[in-house]
Amino acid sequence: MPNTYQSYIGGEWVSSSSGETYETFNPAHKSDVVGTFQSCTIGDTQTAIAAAKAAAEGWANTPAPRRGSILLKSLAIMERRGEELARAITIEEGKGIIDARGEIKRAMNIIEYAAGEGRRMFGYTTPSELPDTVAYTIRRPMGVVAIITPWNFPLAIPAWKIAPALICGNAIVFKPASATPYAATLLTEVFEEAGIPPGVLNLITGSGGSVGNALVESPDISAISFTGSTEIGTRLYSRGAALLKKIQAEMGGKNAAIIMDDADLDKAVGGVVQGAFGSTGQRCTATSRVIVEDGIYDDFMKELVDRTSALTVGDGIDEAVDVAPLSSQNQLDTVMEYIGSGAEQGARLVIGGHRLEDGEYADGYYVEPTIFEDVPLDSRIAQEEIFGPVLTVFKAKDVTEAVEISNSVEFGLSSSIYTKDLTVAYQYINTVETGMVHVNAPTLGGEVHLPFGGLKSSGVGAREQGQEMVDFFTEPITVYIDHAAEAKDRARFI
Ligand code: NAP
Repeated sequence: MPNTYQSYIGGEWVSSSSGETYETFNPAHKSDVVGTFQSCTIGDTQTAIAAAKAAAEGWANTPAPRRGSILLKSLAIMERRGEELARAITIEEGKGIIDARGEIKRAMNIIEYAAGEGRRMFGYTTPSELPDTVAYTIRRPMGVVAIITPWNFPLAIPAWKIAPALICGNAIVFKPASATPYAATLLTEVFEEAGIPPGVLNLITGSGGSVGNALVESPDISAISFTGSTEIGTRLYSRGAALLKKIQAEMGGKNAAIIMDDADLDKAVGGVVQGAFGSTGQRCTATSRVIVEDGIYDDFMKELVDRTSALTVGDGIDEAVDVAPLSSQNQLDTVMEYIGSGAEQGARLVIGGHRLEDGEYADGYYVEPTIFEDVPLDSRIAQEEIFGPVLTVFKAKDVTEAVEISNSVEFGLSSSIYTKDLTVAYQYINTVETGMVHVNAPTLGGEVHLPFGGLKSSGVGAREQGQEMVDFFTEPITVYIDHAAEAKDRARFI
């Protein structure tokens, strides 16, 4: 019998005031219920905001190193519960268990990094233009912040927003994607056990249209950290800006890898296969396009097709599986629609292209790893985020043309180039329009102590992670202290 999980408001686990709940299902066995979760209402959202508001001052006044030690306690709990958390991700989101374990590690890395920030959180001191005056800056928390997250990294993305918000002294209302409340609930349990005081972290599950909207509209929310689609992020950003809120929106991607003639073939193909089909292509940094220089094109394609054909598709709980199911019926429908549009708009299907429905696949959302070549640059599969195991291949005559193709989309999240030529690599780094640039490595991921985020339609507002996380979750306050014993003519110094 699957468990029923509650929301977490003001330090209590509570049911929705409407009494309504909903279920989530395992993408590999879609009749298996993962759990029953609360359909929170606008009223519940307002209760959570009020609880956060009541707790905000006490948390802001807790010394940052003390906040850091609570975060460090959560690390030990995650270590202890690591396998449970990873399995929760796999049965709820569908991704392979090895990727899920990697996601836990990523979450732990950011918590560790954020905890250390409790002993830095630097302002700066600078000479004043006035005599007997000290001028410096301090950082003050934003107050109550909203955290709105997608389903594709149901634990790491919440962690990489919650840990920075907490260390900076904010109280939080956290709204995870409706599709992945289980991982969000377990993460909240971890922070509760670590000793985050009641009201400082509140979890509300329910639809973006009601709960999410109520967060954006609330005058008590001063900042919103959002990750999700460009469509929702753009709407949220414009509405939030009109209400003068501080917003960061990390959104979609259409990431390209460029393969130059001098690339190490083994490394390049390995990076592209991992980037395109790892996590079933459902990563914001997934490789959706590969742009290959003329001279290496045939060798690259042969090796790419060979390695892609060898990938195993199946239930992500099996460690031997390379490509797990898509996360939902909606994802499956979207990906199949894109595959259909590829052929209709003139691209040539090289491998894959089908839904897998027989035998062990009958009960899940499985699609074959799929590759298209001769893809028209203006077609949908060349331009739009597919978010599935579908790779589009393009040919280029040199690095200049390859970068033009890479830049020809509205997105600008991540990119990569495979080359041994330093001059080519630098030309690329200086002209490619993405927030993260990799050389001789896949388009995937990032390290938590460096900024993460995109340009163009992929991101707006301060970057996440790295030093930038403190910039987003605090306000700089400038302090001037005149320590002269007597009055002076200050005007003459201005
Ligand atoms: P989504 O549909 O935009 O949803 C993201 C979050 O926004 C969910 O919690 C959703 O709630 C909520 N939401 C929906 N409508 C809202 C509204 N009117 N007001 C406030 N919140 C609202 O995105 P998704 O399908 O979950 O995630 C996939 C997308 O995320 C992809 O485009 C991917 O590229 C992007 N992504 C980007 C990054 C990055 O760092 N750039 C990282 C990971 C994923 P419901 O679930 O209840 O609808």
